Amino acid sequence: MRVVICGGGVIGACTALFLARRGIEVIVVERTEVAAAASGKAGGFLARDWCAGTPLDALARRSFALHAQLAGDIPGDWGYRPMTVYSGFVAPDGDARQALPSKLRWLADGVVIAQRIGTHETTAIVHPRKFTSSVMDAALALGAQLRRGRITAIPRAADGATARGVEVEGSVIEADAVVIAMGPWSLLAAQWASLPAVYGQRSPSIVYDTGTDVPADALFLEHEDNGNAVSIEVFPRADGSTHVTALSDIAPLPLDPAAVTPDEDAIVRLQAMSERLSSLFDPARIIARQACFRPVTQDGLPLIGKVSQSEGLYVATGHNVWGILNAPATGEALAQLIADGAAQIDLSPFDPARLAPLDPSLLQTR
Ligand SMILES: Cc1cc2nc3c(=O)[nH]c(=O)nc-3n(C[C@H](O)[C@H](O)[C@H](O)COP(=O)(O)OP(=O)(O)OC[C@H]3O[C@@H](n4cnc5c(N)ncnc54)[C@H](O)[C@@H]3O)c2cc1C
Repeated sequence: MRVVICGGGVIGACTALFLARRGIEVIVVERTEVAAAASGKAGGFLARDWCAGTPLDALARRSFALHAQLAGDIPGDWGYRPMTVYSGFVAPDGDARQALPSKLRWLADGVVIAQRIGTHETTAIVHPRKFTSSVMDAALALGAQLRRGRITAIPRAADGATARGVEVEGSVIEADAVVIAMGPWSLLAAQWASLPAVYGQRSPSIVYDTGTDVPADALFLEHEDNGNAVSIEVFPRADGSTHVTALSDIAPLPLDPAAVTPDEDAIVRLQAMSERLSSLFDPARIIARQACFRPVTQDGLPLIGKVSQSEGLYVATGHNVWGILNAPATGEALAQLIADGAAQIDLSPFDPARLAPLDPSLLQTR
């Protein structure tokens, strides 16, 4: 059996690994490079039970466990580490004083820590680009192939329903099954199959080189920006980089993933907010000013499963803010679905058929 995976983000890479572990022939087709988009620019934060009470709970718990297993199972160093998480706020006038515990004294006056919201048992972090690349490398080591190219169509067999592979800029790669995992660009697949809309929600982030100066605790802080309360998230990672993100906007998704750029105004505001948090967020320490598009669906839940009115066609996208967390269990479940006909985890909340398909005439691809 041969499976072609469209997209080399974290979802494509994890699906490739779990399929390759079953001895299935896998070809990943990636337009730009592995982890070129959100999977390379995310925070990398993982939480075991922050989806409790939602349809994502079982997927998130399984995935959290798989992240810990993968850290021991496959080669590579992507900085997997359990972490503590605190929430709090930044006092608008900056004069609030709090006797912070010693490990939080790197924070400026005016930052108030309200409570601990994650522990080493419930929260962790990875470097998302290094994680995605290591998972892809592990799949390649098991025989998977990675080809650079742009998927331009999903050709059908004579019955008109069965996907017979993918078209990559004019040439066809034949396959028994195809997985669409192109993040927000999965929207384009609505031209080729009956699929609901996937939107891209843009978020800026700044990455600082903080070395060992910032301890390994994540922060979720309420901050006032132009009179509005916004949440700013701080993720120190094992490689000495600290990822800071806040603010998101609706912007047109560039057709080329390599053409994604941040909104300059959003970066300026995010930089000012970061400097309010700590003098360690010094502009001289900035490694990256970037943005990425989270894949989002109409009801906020991912699309994971078989595409209706098609045979041999599957989709895995729309993971929104939890794509790094939920990638391993998504890949595992898809591999089970493709190879065994059913996944161990209940995928019914993520059935693509729950949402109306997008009218392809609404797509502007130029
Ligand atoms: C600022 C920010 C912070 C985040 N932080 C976290 C976090 O802390 N924890 C967490 O769990 N999640 C986080 N996320 C969400 C997470 O990054 C995404 O949900 C996840 O990366 C989506 O992965 P993906 O593989 O579906 O898509 P993508 O990463 O977008 O990958 C899609 C791939 O498809 C390729 N592609 C596109 N079109 C084609 C084509 N025609 N042919 C071939 N290839 C194509 C692209 O080049 C790309 O490599 C964050 C997101 C953002 C924006």
